[in-house]
Amino acid sequence: MISGPKHLEHIVAYKPGASVEEIRREYGLTNVEKLASNENPLGPSPLALEAAAAAMRTADRYGDGGAALRQRLAEFHQTSADRISVNNGSDALIHQIMRTFLLPGESALSCHGGFVSFGIAVRTVGVEPKMVDLSPDYRFDVEALAAAVDHNTKIVYIPNPNNPTGTHITSDELTWLLDRVPTSTLVVLDEAYYQYATYLAPDTYPDAIAMDRPNVLALRTFSKAYGLAAFRIGYAVGAASVISWLQRTKLPFDPNAIGCAAAVAALDDHAFVQRTVEINAHGLEVLGSALREADYRTTNSVANFVMVDCGTPALAATFHRSLLEHGFISRPLGGFGLPHCVRISTGTSDQNQRLAATLSELRTVLTA
Ligand code: PLP
Repeated sequence: MISGPKHLEHIVAYKPGASVEEIRREYGLTNVEKLASNENPLGPSPLALEAAAAAMRTADRYGDGGAALRQRLAEFHQTSADRISVNNGSDALIHQIMRTFLLPGESALSCHGGFVSFGIAVRTVGVEPKMVDLSPDYRFDVEALAAAVDHNTKIVYIPNPNNPTGTHITSDELTWLLDRVPTSTLVVLDEAYYQYATYLAPDTYPDAIAMDRPNVLALRTFSKAYGLAAFRIGYAVGAASVISWLQRTKLPFDPNAIGCAAAVAALDDHAFVQRTVEINAHGLEVLGSALREADYRTTNSVANFVMVDCGTPALAATFHRSLLEHGFISRPLGGFGLPHCVRISTGTSDQNQRLAATLSELRTVLTA
């Protein structure tokens, strides 16, 4: 029998949640809304779809390994292409960063209750992640992170805003932390929800790309505000020296050429992104007031989802099931280390209105 290495034994394989079709059948429902994966309720950017359809005609050819996309991103961010690396979604970049920079014996630091890919990626290279707690209001705790950094810390990972809590660290907090981290430590700011956060918290939300610090690496994705999750395109922006290491470990023809063409076109679809962030802001307002009025425990989210603290894992399971019975697929957060919480993505205006009414109705589930 072939056995895998010991350090992979505790990694749990990703299990996709139930599909709309499965829930329809199981609960005998006609209308089921999947609000479990923070996707764009408007669908893909139409400009991107057109470009992808055109690119399909040359699907028999290898692509350029993201060269044209890097160039276009450089223009978009008013920087040079040697400061940008692209890959199969920011998930792939998180794994690639660990594979490239982290060695057994070194340490990688983040918070419990942060984005799950970090822990999996760190364990994949044979390192046990070092985790500090979130603050009581479910925010990344910069003081706890600063206290946990030592000479051995190779990477600090901060999803900003964080998934699944939706909370963000401010520009002042980030600067304070960076001033306390050695320049030999790579600080990864995962900005998967950047467009939503800049729209919702313009005065306090930091832009890691604009900070232009040699040990800061920003991650962005086309999966959320551009509506291109299935194409798997993400990118990293940082110092040219950091990017040059990522370029060495990237597979030659990743990310796929059709996705790259879609992403290049999506960067021109400003109207689509604008509509996306406006619908999301309205959705957060509608869901936020339903949650506050019914006295749910929730966070101050600047992303495209809300998180409900149900008190206990059992109540979270009941709440999740009750939402299913009402036709809403949400995400229980056991896998994120928050088994007493449930995350729900914002949807279209109609979905948000119906979800808000359901949330008001379901409050009693958590007091039973
Ligand atoms: N980072 C964060 C914080 C996320 O929430 C997600 C997806 O939900 C990702 C990265 C992965 O995004 P991608 O589709 O670009 O791999």
